[in-house]
Amino acid sequence: MSDQPHKFGFDTLQIHAGARPDPATGARQTPIYQTTAYVFRDAEHAAALFNLQEVGYIYSRLTNPTVAVLQERVATLEGGAGAVCCSSGHAAQIMALFPLMGPGLNVVVSTRLYGGSITQFSQTIRRFGWQARFVDFDDMDAVAAAIDDDTRAIFCESIANPGGYITDLDAAAKVADKAGIPLIVDNTSATPYLCRPIEHGATLVVHSMTKFLTGNGTVTGGVVVDSGTFDWSASDKFPSLSQPEPAYHGLKFHETFGPLAFTFHGIAIGLRDLGMTLNPQAAHYTLMGIETLSLRMQRHCENAEKVAAWLEQQPAVAGVTYAGLKSSPYHERMTRICPKGAGGLFTVTLKGGYDACVKFVESLELFSHVANLGDTRSLVIHPASTTHRQLEPDQLVAAGAAPETVRISIGIEDTADIIADLDQALQKAAG
Ligand SMILES: *Cc1c(COP(=O)(O)O)cnc(C)c1O
Repeated sequence: MSDQPHKFGFDTLQIHAGARPDPATGARQTPIYQTTAYVFRDAEHAAALFNLQEVGYIYSRLTNPTVAVLQERVATLEGGAGAVCCSSGHAAQIMALFPLMGPGLNVVVSTRLYGGSITQFSQTIRRFGWQARFVDFDDMDAVAAAIDDDTRAIFCESIANPGGYITDLDAAAKVADKAGIPLIVDNTSATPYLCRPIEHGATLVVHSMTKFLTGNGTVTGGVVVDSGTFDWSASDKFPSLSQPEPAYHGLKFHETFGPLAFTFHGIAIGLRDLGMTLNPQAAHYTLMGIETLSLRMQRHCENAEKVAAWLEQQPAVAGVTYAGLKSSPYHERMTRICPKGAGGLFTVTLKGGYDACVKFVESLELFSHVANLGDTRSLVIHPASTTHRQLEPDQLVAAGAAPETVRISIGIEDTADIIADLDQALQKAAG
């Protein structure tokens, strides 16, 4: 026997991390703590909780035991120190930026992002006085050049939605490190089963748990995971974390909570004052989903590889962007960033253009035409006319959502059935 303590593997952690039998009843499955508030032992206990001198439950806008299990589970799977769940993936992005940003400050972001994120960054965050600078992350010199004294983070997706591009996270982390700012990675399309951005140098990882983590299209949810490794006090750039916080009698989050500073700030300030809270019912569905994450991701990848390879051979198809294909310019990078597989998401370009795409989407029968991805069901959408509708033509092309492109999220059904449905729809689109 070795002296090293045994470390559980991913398949075990996705079922057990953060959970223990309910101390009150012995319930084996994590109960849904459907409660707004928690009874204080006495006035002193209440005061200690409110002062952050003791960790415990006050009110479910801040903390809830079901949500806490999910936070610990995702943090463990990502290899982070802590996590804060929120009401959606978009909420998680605001929660990740909120402690870092302020009026006049900027974040350098990839042009290859989920369409909703491009709109959130290019339009809505400007109302807070924040600015996003869009750069092609295949050009790390351009990323470095876009950073100035007012930059507080860089943001990209590991496997980018919708195009399936893979970001060189190690190179991005190097650029962030050199500038003394955190790298934030949206790991929604990859999940921690395929990619663990913290191992590639990311400081923060965000997810839309709506997608593969829950995996069956039942909830909207998000999470921010903190690696716990960033030194918030190394410069004067992050006063929310390094300087006295007036709302807590001058408490300094980094000095007091060390590697959990970002997580505690996210709960004590972010959830308390922005209120983007995940509800316990949604946390329950997500916990159920995560129990089978590795099995589903293996099947998503297996199916996507076969379907993408088949599509590539079809005469009506101009191109397929799946990084799991040997023909993909991102294939080599995939073997380094997400060696277990390139996920279930890619785009197909049809030779028939915009009209063929619309006909194709409308002709599919097993596939559902929805604005979602990462479901057990195969899903399809035409980004240019839906999710990416708000974007300018050049933004569409940069994001991999050109008008002649269809986004496909491959489910875990029988591969032959998925291909048969695509086959009949391609024929109708061509005819
Ligand atoms: C869906 C999605 C989001 C937004 O998440 P919501 O849960 O819908 O708010 C962010 N990033 C990526 C990559 C997504 O796919």
